[in-house]
Amino acid sequence: MSDSLTTHPALPASYIKQTRELLGDGADAFLASYDAPRAYGLRLNPLKVNALHLSEGELSRLKSEFDLQPIPWCATGYYYDETTRPGKHPYHAAGLYYIQEPSAMSAAEALDAQPGETILDLAAAPGGKTTQIAGAMNGEGLLIANEIHPARAKILSENVERCGIRNAVVTSASPDQLSVRFPAMFDRIMLDAPCSGEGMFRKDPDAIAEWSPEHVQMCAARQADILEHAAIMLKPGGRLVYSTCTFNRSENEKAMNTFVALHPEFTLVHTERLWPHQCKGEGHFVAVLTKSAEAEDAAALRSPESDSRSRKVGKPSKTGGKANRFDLELSLFEAFAKDTVPALRLGPGEPVRFGDALYWLPHDKDGRFTASSMEGLKVVRPGLQLGELKTKRIEPAHALAVALRSNEAANANTVSYSADAPETAAYLRGEALQADTGLTGWTIITVDGYPIGWAKASNDQLKNHLPKGLRRMS
Ligand code: SAM
Repeated sequence: MSDSLTTHPALPASYIKQTRELLGDGADAFLASYDAPRAYGLRLNPLKVNALHLSEGELSRLKSEFDLQPIPWCATGYYYDETTRPGKHPYHAAGLYYIQEPSAMSAAEALDAQPGETILDLAAAPGGKTTQIAGAMNGEGLLIANEIHPARAKILSENVERCGIRNAVVTSASPDQLSVRFPAMFDRIMLDAPCSGEGMFRKDPDAIAEWSPEHVQMCAARQADILEHAAIMLKPGGRLVYSTCTFNRSENEKAMNTFVALHPEFTLVHTERLWPHQCKGEGHFVAVLTKSAEAEDAAALRSPESDSRSRKVGKPSKTGGKANRFDLELSLFEAFAKDTVPALRLGPGEPVRFGDALYWLPHDKDGRFTASSMEGLKVVRPGLQLGELKTKRIEPAHALAVALRSNEAANANTVSYSADAPETAAYLRGEALQADTGLTGWTIITVDGYPIGWAKASNDQLKNHLPKGLRRMS
């Protein structure tokens, strides 16, 4: 048995030892996979393209563009040829897909999210699982996507926006801040835990330098702590999916066994491992746990402090201003929507002001989540951004354009270009475009029919309203 099988120079000896203990005779094949090429994956976004029922035209366009081949464990997932660079394609800006490591798609599949449910993605950035869960929810219900690190939460929020997700609230809180506020709140919780990342060594060799047996133990302790908070927040009868992209048992099977031993109300229903030498993807561990319907309802244990807090405030702290000012802003948006996107239908929720912007905050089916639920919480995106409030007028939000369904955009001013048209590239660079004579007002720019942003037409010109941060270099 020789470790010269792997030419990977940086694998620590203690990691190779751990691998041999874990895999026995299978270790050589596993270690050899470090020298094999990695696979690239993308997941079609059902909020944009009906991934399961693509029309012949849509499917062949996407297939030929990126040489798509189905990923067996994810109905919306496809391998792509990396030379086609889908991340640079205008369809990416339109949110038609999310680029995701193929094995990582298995966890949200196991969560089996349903439209109308109340779901938490507890460690969500950059948003692979969040966008997959949102696709399964089809815009119905409430999805709280949380990421503890503010900079990563911003990236998560951008991906939520690009994928046209309307029913997600993006927060940046620690698990304990959430569990004190939302006991027994969620039908399903996704915990894609921070881990030692052994499954990412091939994709991201920098991760190797961070690995040590001590780091593995630190990760296991942190996972146990986060799991405690997830347990509090899951409803009786709810489903928790725990996943990692690491191989060692401490962060996987052992973590699960310890958790169910401490929590008899939980049943470990299923575990699965994806190995890079056995499938076309990196390493992943997925565990499905259910909480007994008879479990004590943690909502009953809610602290008086959290109850009084949720009664006290009617709107998020940043709503600011007086009620009549908010009413005026709301009526400005309503007038804009009636005029520009008359077919727009927002689901159950409420308007909230956040900074200078107006948002539509989604409600949960039990009526537990309202604007006051966010009081004191670091919120990055309180739902769908509708518009920016300017003096006596409203500027529609980019998020609104990319969240429009095709039937909602139908009666709006739209100008469509093909993906390879020079106008599309010019729009994505932030340039003004030529407008048809007579076109005036807010106009949705689409690529092959898929919205990518707003422009404002006047004097035969389309003034570009793509947010500066999304503009591409020439
Ligand atoms: N689910 C994400 C996806 O599919 O794109 C990937 C999540 S990544 C594996 C784990 C995340 O947990 C990281 O974004 C990390 O910042 C976050 N994290 C780190 N420490 C944490 C903690 N103590 N509590 C909760 N999340 C934490």
